[in-house]
Amino acid sequence: MTDTTDPVRRLPLVFEAPRRGKPPKHWFDLSVDERKDAVVAMGLPRYRADQISRHVFDRLEDDASRFTDLPAEIRVELGQQLFPRLLEQVTQQTADAGRTVKTLWRLHDGALLESVLMRYPGRTTLCISSQAGCGMACPFCATGQGGLKRNLSQAEIVAQVLAADQMLAQGLIPGTTGRLNNIVFMGMGEPLANYSAVIGAIRTFLAPGPNGFGMSARGITVSTVGLVPKIRQLADEGLPLTLALSLHAPTDALRDELVPINERWNVEEVVEAAWQYAQTTKRRVSIEYAMMRDINDSVEHAHQLARVLRRRGEWGWVHVNLIPLNPTPGSRWTASRKADERAFIATLEGHGVPVTLRDTRGQEIDGACGQLAATHP
Ligand code: SF4
Repeated sequence: MTDTTDPVRRLPLVFEAPRRGKPPKHWFDLSVDERKDAVVAMGLPRYRADQISRHVFDRLEDDASRFTDLPAEIRVELGQQLFPRLLEQVTQQTADAGRTVKTLWRLHDGALLESVLMRYPGRTTLCISSQAGCGMACPFCATGQGGLKRNLSQAEIVAQVLAADQMLAQGLIPGTTGRLNNIVFMGMGEPLANYSAVIGAIRTFLAPGPNGFGMSARGITVSTVGLVPKIRQLADEGLPLTLALSLHAPTDALRDELVPINERWNVEEVVEAAWQYAQTTKRRVSIEYAMMRDINDSVEHAHQLARVLRRRGEWGWVHVNLIPLNPTPGSRWTASRKADERAFIATLEGHGVPVTLRDTRGQEIDGACGQLAATHP
C-alpha cells in the first residue's frame, strides 16, 4: 500500500494517489485525434469518430447499442472497448423542493463519489468530484476524514457531467430540461492534485460540438486549497476559468491547523499565486472562507483577511465567498452565529472587499462544499 504521509512533515503527498486497478478506458479519455485512431483500429473510416461523438455530446447517448447508424457488430465491439459503464448509481437524494439532487456513484473498483446538481433561476450548476476521497486532511471536512482513495480518470469526471445532462434532459429537475450552464469542481477531492485528468475533462466540456459539450470557460470553476505550482500552470493554460481558493483562515498559525497543506505553501504564497492568476486570466478569483464558530469568524479575523487580500492597494481582483459551515456529526467544528456572520461581512465591506454569503443550498443533504462524505455502508 502506498504511504500517503510525508515522513518529515507529516503532510499528505498530494500528487500521489494510492494505486488501484486502472479504470476502464473510455471514449471520454481520448482526444479528438485519439478517437479517430481508435475507430480506425476497429476497421472503420475516420469520419465515424465524429458520428459517434455526435451521439454522445449532441444526443447525450452513451449506450453504443443505440448508435444505429453503425454496423451492428461494430456497436458491440465499440460498447465493450470504449463505452464501458463507468458510474453506477447507488443512491439519489433531493432537497430544496427537488431543485437540488445529490447522487452517490460507485466506480468499477467499488470507490464511491458524489456529484450535486443544483437548479437556480436561469442556470443549472453541477458540483463534481475530481478524486474519490481527498488527501488534504482538512480537519473540519467530512471528505478529508476518509482520506484519499484514488484519482478519478478523465472519463470518470466527464461521465458525471453527461449523467447530469441526461437527468436534465429527462426532466428530473422541475422547471428545466436544458443543459448545464455551470460546473464547479467543489465536490470530493483536490482538483489540482489530479491535474491532467481535470484539465483533459475541462477541455471536453469546452470543445464545441461534435467533440465536446460546447460550454463556456466562464461557467467552470476550479477550486483548490492552494497548490501553488499548479495554480501557475492553470493560469498558463490560456483558459478563462474561474479559480476558487479555499483560504478559510487569514494567518499561517490558524491555516496550518485548518488547511494542513498551508505548511507547504503559506497564506502569502497562495494569495500571491491567486492574484497572479487574476492578472493573467483577467478573471476575478473567488476566496472561499468556511465560517467556523469561534475559530475563524471574529472581527479581528475579518480585518486580517482584508489586509491579506489587499494587493497593489486594491481588491478589484478578488471576491470573498463566505460559506456557512455544514457541521459534520460529532465534530467540534460548527457553523458561526448569525450575529458573527453579520459583523464579519460588515468589517470586510468596511474595507471595500467584495463579499457574499453563500446560500446553503443542499445543506440538508450534506451537499455543501467540502462536505461530501460518500457515506454509504
Ligand atoms: S476541504 Fe476540500 S481540500 Fe480539504 S479535505 Fe475537504 S475536500 Fe479535501
